Amino acid sequence: MKISDIEVYLACPGRNYLFIKVLTDTPGLWGVGEGTLNGSEPIVASTIQHITPLLIGRDPQRIEDIWHLIYRQGYWRGGPIFMAALAAIDLALWDIKGKIANLPVYQLLGGRARDGVMCYSHAGGRDEKECEDNARKLIEQGFRAVRCQVGPYGGAGVIGELPPLHPEAPPTSLYEPTPYLLQVPKLFAHLRSKLGMEIELLHDVHEQLDPIQAARLAKELEPYRLFYLEDPLMPEHRESWPLVRAASTTPLAIGEIFTSRWDCLPVFMNRWVDYIRIKPLHVGGLTEARKIMVLAEPFNVRSAFHGAADIGPVAQAASVALQMVIPNFGIQEWTRFPEPVYEVIEGIPEMRQGFLYPNERPGLGIEIDTAKLQKYPYKRAFMPIVRRADGTMHVY
Ligand code: MG
Repeated sequence: MKISDIEVYLACPGRNYLFIKVLTDTPGLWGVGEGTLNGSEPIVASTIQHITPLLIGRDPQRIEDIWHLIYRQGYWRGGPIFMAALAAIDLALWDIKGKIANLPVYQLLGGRARDGVMCYSHAGGRDEKECEDNARKLIEQGFRAVRCQVGPYGGAGVIGELPPLHPEAPPTSLYEPTPYLLQVPKLFAHLRSKLGMEIELLHDVHEQLDPIQAARLAKELEPYRLFYLEDPLMPEHRESWPLVRAASTTPLAIGEIFTSRWDCLPVFMNRWVDYIRIKPLHVGGLTEARKIMVLAEPFNVRSAFHGAADIGPVAQAASVALQMVIPNFGIQEWTRFPEPVYEVIEGIPEMRQGFLYPNERPGLGIEIDTAKLQKYPYKRAFMPIVRRADGTMHVY
């Protein structure tokens, strides 16, 4: 059996996604993959197109060998663009292998270690009350864990917005840490007083604090028993993690922009976090994500795979497959995809009462109606620009 071609689909069924099909010389046998990288999909697409000639004629069943071929052949390796491209191909190869074996991918990875994958979803709002109301709606749907944020990332710290320079450019928001640092403990005091102590609550800082500010926030949130505090620091401030870690018993999570086991290993070995936010999509696929979770296991770090809507349905199916299997599962982030996604894609993992379940079809079990997908052309998009009040560039 040989790989005969790779088809790349950039589309915007409600938001931008990058899907691929790895075709084989066996009639009717192909694998579906995904390389979505929010704001950077066209660069990933051209990377996949560039490496396609290297793969034509190779046996798609040799997943490990092809992974290392792609990873090592170019000399320039790693990073989010390249690892998303590698992930797209790796997911498609696991899909092909499952179809050949007539088994779902989670069976190939070791079989069920649990009945379903527990998820949290997002409750936002303009103020504490609206956030509480939206949290209640999710709890009524069966969610046992809810991420709570007032406003955009940075909350009350977002003190203004500058218009885009032209229609295709993103707006700029202005951010200061102090209003945000004052707001978040009040939000969780409110939520705990209204929702009780039992429901699991989470919060995402989105890397917007300095180390000493992050340590203070983790300490102030300690009485409210968060499930975890997400990305209190930029990964570049790794050497400051012990400061945040030592400040409180608030559990910590990092890693949604990590791209390899080498990003993760020092975090595990130093026990800086409790949860790791990687997912197959941005670390080179299931092949690498499985290895990362094996490395995490002896350090008691659990999975909390990144799963906002920019982690598309194929990638989410891969996340679910792996988290059905690993012993150190923690939680999965989940938001419903835009409605057109359900019109063009079949086999999306099913959400019931706050748990995701894989389908029982062979491979990842996903089929994309590529003809319908063409109705939704890709729209160039950028990540938001964030500056401090004095104009200094900050981080989104
Ligand atoms: Mg996040």
